[in-house]
Amino acid sequence: MDDSAKVPVLVTGGAGYIGSHAVLALRDAGWPVAVIDNLSTGFRWAVPDDVPFFEGDIADTALLARIFTEHNIGAIMHFAGSIVVPESVADPLKYYDNNTSRSRTLIQAAVEHGVPHFIFSSTATVYGEPEIKPLTEDDPLQPVNPYGMSKLMTERILADISRAHAMNHCVLRYFNVCGADPAARSGQSTAGATHLIKVAVETVTGKRDHVAIFGCDYPTPDGTGIRDYIHVSDLASAHVHALSALIDRPERSLTMNVGYGRGFSVLEVLDAVDSATGTTIVRKQEPRRPGDVPALISNPARIHEVTDWQPVHDDLETIVCHALAWERKLHDMRRNS
Ligand code: UDP
Repeated sequence: MDDSAKVPVLVTGGAGYIGSHAVLALRDAGWPVAVIDNLSTGFRWAVPDDVPFFEGDIADTALLARIFTEHNIGAIMHFAGSIVVPESVADPLKYYDNNTSRSRTLIQAAVEHGVPHFIFSSTATVYGEPEIKPLTEDDPLQPVNPYGMSKLMTERILADISRAHAMNHCVLRYFNVCGADPAARSGQSTAGATHLIKVAVETVTGKRDHVAIFGCDYPTPDGTGIRDYIHVSDLASAHVHALSALIDRPERSLTMNVGYGRGFSVLEVLDAVDSATGTTIVRKQEPRRPGDVPALISNPARIHEVTDWQPVHDDLETIVCHALAWERKLHDMRRNS
């Protein structure tokens, strides 16, 4: 895309895991960026010093108005939100507040200020408990947990908004995001992580003594859950391509899966971790975790049709190596702080 078409982008949740990688991807591709983050789970250090940073909430409309005006914001990438399935089962109101109500407020502010493009972090969890097959965007949407439902509600709000107002949007439905920036500029840093690859690399570095396998009785070939694991830097670059697609055709909104189109079981992931790191991590079988589904695998045909997105890290061992390099850096940063 021509540099003159690169509008300033406000990244919400830009100090968090995926948001910080999106900031890096945008900057690397020459887009002006600003970040808003309330630092509830993100880290100030995850945002480069030369990126304008606003500590605050996405429901703070006065702050949003100031940022939109001062930075002439031409697009929003909305990452801020809560993302842990079991927590959403235990505390649904937190999810409907963070992921639905506050998103609605942000969308309203965007409409009122005439921000023309909006990209929303959604999730494969909106498909619920689907058949074990690669999922297209047209498959049924039947979330089985509050996390998925809270995201789906925001998808629906955006669909109505784009019909009524001059703002097009792109919903990106992420599959299982993992790994870290290959240059170790950012990575998954939240304490108390629950995601499989993060838990596994924490075990490799000795932060945990084992990995629990949640459920060995799923209707999958080895009985463990299957997911489509996608490297966070590939996901971040998908956002940059999606934004170009929105700018190219302002009359069109999009909903696109972002995954690699293949799945790995928990056991296959743990084997890859062992093989990439030369360790044998201790595995313990435990019961299924509430809210988990047997398999989620994307059919990413649409994003490949609509954009020039080219994933470059589709390899489980590469993902594990990047995650581990980040885990070691994080460990050193914490020891030295
Ligand atoms: N999982 C596991 N042990 C863990 C974390 C996750 O067995 O410590 C399994 C989980 O049951 C699911 C898959 O790994 O089948 C991916 O879970 P994760 O929490 O990484 O992502 P989710 O799919 O829940 O968003």
